[in-house]
Amino acid sequence: MNHDVAKQGIEDAAEALARLQESLRDCSLCELCRGRTRVVFGVGSPRAELMFVGEGPGFHEDRQGEPFVGQAGKLLTTLLGEIGLARADVYIANVVKCRPPENRDPLPAEIEACSPHLMEQIAIIRPKVICTLGRFATKLLAETDQSMSSIHGRAKETTLAGVDTIIFPVFHPAAALYTPANRQVLQEDFTKLRFLLERGLGPSDSQNEEPTHATEDSDRSQRHPRGRVSQSCERQEQLHLW
Ligand code: URA
Repeated sequence: MNHDVAKQGIEDAAEALARLQESLRDCSLCELCRGRTRVVFGVGSPRAELMFVGEGPGFHEDRQGEPFVGQAGKLLTTLLGEIGLARADVYIANVVKCRPPENRDPLPAEIEACSPHLMEQIAIIRPKVICTLGRFATKLLAETDQSMSSIHGRAKETTLAGVDTIIFPVFHPAAALYTPANRQVLQEDFTKLRFLLERGLGPSDSQNEEPTHATEDSDRSQRHPRGRVSQSCERQEQLHLW
């Protein structure tokens, strides 16, 4: 795709995100507004191919206004680095944008009030892959009640906010902070994630391989070509399981 068109797309997305962020600065749609210091909107590349969605801000995120800046965030940054990515290459957001008191789980009413904002972010960013961190993001975006143990590290094609994307659930990094076995599982899942970004899912998403129009998506597929059919059949069995 034409470089200028791509640049314009990124600038438009950045502006749209900035407008949305500004509109949420004084949000009072749910009770979480009472205890928050700041709305933690999201951070990263406005047209990231890979988006992460966590649960909700903790103490440090609430203070700094940026998701995943505490201990779990440091681990996320390390895991990204291990697959050759920086925070600036991806987009990071949460299911709820204000800190639940005492870091309790977000309530259904809070998730319901906040999720339209997440959907708007997805509509603007149009990520190729959304990696859900933990059960709250997975339940919301993959619409499943299956346990994280049974679906982590597996991909599911879906359409969210009008965007065709792939959901890839992994354990929440907080679950790996003090448990080396969980950390190893996360590392393995991040390796699969890198693979998914580079190759896609294979035959089931290869319809986009030779687009007839020069769109931003076609530019993406050139930067990260989809896998060859023989390889991807194999990969599909590994990745595309639920
Ligand atoms: N845990 C989350 O789910 N999100 C954050 O932003 C930080 C910790």
